[in-house]
Amino acid sequence: MNPLCPRCGAIGSIKYGRYHRFDDAQSIQRYRCANCKSCHSSATHTPTYRQKRRRLNRLVEMDIASSTAQRRIAIKHGCARKTVARKVIFLAAEARKKAAKWLEQVGPFNSVQWDELITFEHSRLKPLSVAVMSCTRTRCIIGFGIAPIPASGVISIRSVEKYGKRPNRSGSMRKRVLKSVKQYVSPRAAITTDEHPHYAAEIKTVFPRMIHTQHQSVRGSLTGQGELKRIGFDPMFNINHTLAMMRDNIKRLARCTWCTTKKASSLDDVIAIYMHYHNTTLIPQPEIRVNRYFLSSSE
Ligand SMILES: [Zn+2]
Repeated sequence: MNPLCPRCGAIGSIKYGRYHRFDDAQSIQRYRCANCKSCHSSATHTPTYRQKRRRLNRLVEMDIASSTAQRRIAIKHGCARKTVARKVIFLAAEARKKAAKWLEQVGPFNSVQWDELITFEHSRLKPLSVAVMSCTRTRCIIGFGIAPIPASGVISIRSVEKYGKRPNRSGSMRKRVLKSVKQYVSPRAAITTDEHPHYAAEIKTVFPRMIHTQHQSVRGSLTGQGELKRIGFDPMFNINHTLAMMRDNIKRLARCTWCTTKKASSLDDVIAIYMHYHNTTLIPQPEIRVNRYFLSSSE
């Protein structure tokens, strides 16, 4: 059936010639609405409508998830820095939709791990906490969230002097993320975390029937991006490996880098792009389950 008219919503658009789209060398079918006589095309109904550099979408997605700075992506593909910045916003919105669909197909997850990594926005005096939940078996990322936290240690006094008291929103962020992943994790799943004092209560509130195991935090090793641990057997290896992959594959999360996050919302976009790329390309693909009996019967 020919697409509905985007202007009046009427059915019965008729074919009305074609045009050659230069940007990706496609021949596009045009339509004319029989009701309001306005014209539209098969491109009107796509998410890339009115984009001028469609071929860049996939390339920018791969580069963002492959430790490349936005300025370097612009040089590499011969486009403006602003084009890359706009693509990141568009790709993140698309990645969030695709990730939700993918998780729906692959879930529910029966064993998960939950941890946070620390980064910063603009200056080390303004730290951010990134909470990540990953599947223990497949290492896929199920959900993440970003929140400002106050600086700790020797820089805490300088942080307050320079930028004022910084709120700690990590608790509300963790609760929000736990609620958002609820639909993909089975209610009786096993969850493994470190000995963070707030995790147990937060998990109990959202997942009252989850089996929660806590392990002592161990200092990270330099070769493991500060995330993989120095001990032989690490019960939190899967989430630590996922966090180490994030530090290695997202340019702004690497340690000792001068490529920094300027806005927390942009970091959210970049991690959303990475999350989908990580789940669908970087890790071995989990089989897609057809039977969703477990999730529906256990509630
Ligand atoms: Zn119409």
